[in-house]
Amino acid sequence: MSEGLVYNIQRLSLHDGPGIRTTVFLKGCPLHCLWCSNPESQSFVPEMLYFENQCQHCGICVAVCPTGALSPQDDGTPRCDRRKCLACGACTDACPHDARSISGKLMSPGEVIKVVKKDRIHYQNSDGGMTVSGGEPLAQPYFLLELLKAAREDFLHTCLDTCGFAKWEIMEKILKYTDLVLFDVKHLHSAEHQRLTGVDNTLILDNLKKVAKSGVPVRIRLPLIPGLNDSDKNIMETGQLVESLGLKDVDLIFYHMLGLNKYKALGMEYRVEDKRTPYAVEHAVRILESFSLQVNSSPGEMSRSIIKEREIKICCL
Ligand code: SF4
Ligand code: SF4
Repeated sequence: MSEGLVYNIQRLSLHDGPGIRTTVFLKGCPLHCLWCSNPESQSFVPEMLYFENQCQHCGICVAVCPTGALSPQDDGTPRCDRRKCLACGACTDACPHDARSISGKLMSPGEVIKVVKKDRIHYQNSDGGMTVSGGEPLAQPYFLLELLKAAREDFLHTCLDTCGFAKWEIMEKILKYTDLVLFDVKHLHSAEHQRLTGVDNTLILDNLKKVAKSGVPVRIRLPLIPGLNDSDKNIMETGQLVESLGLKDVDLIFYHMLGLNKYKALGMEYRVEDKRTPYAVEHAVRILESFSLQVNSSPGEMSRSIIKEREIKICCL
């Protein structure tokens, strides 16, 4: 039996498919979207996160690190040489202030399903089930296949949340055990897609066309990133494509900056400017609805998320 690298299992999820769901997040992604709100999902190996704002500079982590990756700076803040870090977790276990954590744990399909089944009663009452997301779940195809098969054997509704970047032969096998596909469409222009995500969209769009014909229900997910993919042209072309494929449902995913602290915790740079305006979402909805699509969005949520983030920043000052 294969094992998968899992970085989160989120129970009682309401945004990753119908009803109440458990979302299983697999670690590792062939894309590196500039706006990615889960930077810990990108690498295919476990990683250590360090939350400096919780650190009390006690030095315990430096003392227990077996590889010498940690060393104290003049003010006592531990500095990490990530080339030496093996994500062994010794510092995480020893830290008395929860300033460190490890992202990524090897799990068997059976271990994951055991967690997923805890909320079976909620799935039954809401037509929910299990969603596998990432990272990119198709990048761990053997584990994903076994996980979906196990879910089917337990009569759980299965949903695949994918960026669509995988060999069609893999996707075709996975679809046999998938009840719903949430398919990301990030940009219709190939060169822009390459610039924003690190890969061009040829394979992704080819796969989308094949999935649309497969008979498995598909919802398109369009992350709306201000200044990067929210031009009228891109939204119109997306609407045209979705309509031409005979698909109906589009979920608009709002841009937010709630992942910023994780970039810092991983020593990564965040390179997207905040250019949000509350009316951009309503505008995108109007364009998409002109193609007779069912658009799922709650623009008020975006306004609230902007306000919430600003409140958080004000509190921190
Ligand atoms: S995870 Fe392990 S190797 Fe990495 S800094 Fe912590 S103790 Fe050192
Ligand atoms: S053990 Fe935790 S609180 Fe102490 S220096 Fe290390 S990260 Fe900071």
